[in-house]
Amino acid sequence: MPHVLSPRQAAILNEMGVDVWRLRGQKSLESNAEDNAKSSAGAVLASLPQDEVATLVPDTGLPVSLGQDWDALNAAIRACTKCGLHQTRTQAVCGVGNTQADWLVVGEAPGADEDAKGEPFVGRAGQLLNEMLRAIGLNREEVFIANILKCRPPDNRDPGAGEIAECLPYLRRQIELVQPKVILVVGRIAAQSLLQVTTPVGKLRGQVHEFEGLPLVVTYHPAYLLRSPTQKAKSWQDLLLAQDVLKGAAG
Ligand code: URA
Repeated sequence: MPHVLSPRQAAILNEMGVDVWRLRGQKSLESNAEDNAKSSAGAVLASLPQDEVATLVPDTGLPVSLGQDWDALNAAIRACTKCGLHQTRTQAVCGVGNTQADWLVVGEAPGADEDAKGEPFVGRAGQLLNEMLRAIGLNREEVFIANILKCRPPDNRDPGAGEIAECLPYLRRQIELVQPKVILVVGRIAAQSLLQVTTPVGKLRGQVHEFEGLPLVVTYHPAYLLRSPTQKAKSWQDLLLAQDVLKGAAG
């Protein structure tokens, strides 16, 4: 059965760059959205009941392009109810930093501090991440930082495969928008999710991988380095490798 969009839904999808013309039995988007053309996707999404928002993107059958711009993408993330984590989160944690960065850092999922603040890597692991970046001459503000999952798993449990599958399109879109020159992936969950492997971090680090045509370097998660500081030297090597990639000296 075709999914019939209300004018309000059509306006949101239009703002998000979602191609609804292909839905069978649907009036043209222009005529549906006529009265809503000036709506901001963020404002409209925020005003919708959660269950209404939840039916939007999946029902289009559209793949990963969840928003044409950051406002639309972040609005979609904040309103997301695609997995059960929305029931226990304080808020979704989108991403932070320079949206035109050369470096994109990918972590696992928000913890308690991130869930409370709405920003990735703001707890102890985040402070170590900041120091790691500073060690190679980068301020946190110069890079873009995001996670595989946008919502905190309760009790900091590992993300489930279904949660990762539902959430990954948001990160893919973030990567499309930032177009980084190198992706630095910290930790097992993030590395295995992006590379679609089950190989341990110790075997993935120290080499240059590829994700969607972009160079990707894996290193240890800062939370692990807090527990195992002797591994910091290897992480330092990984950061230098990523820096070399950026300078065109490795790859
Ligand atoms: N650990 C992560 O992987 N991401 C965060 O944002 C915080 C801790």
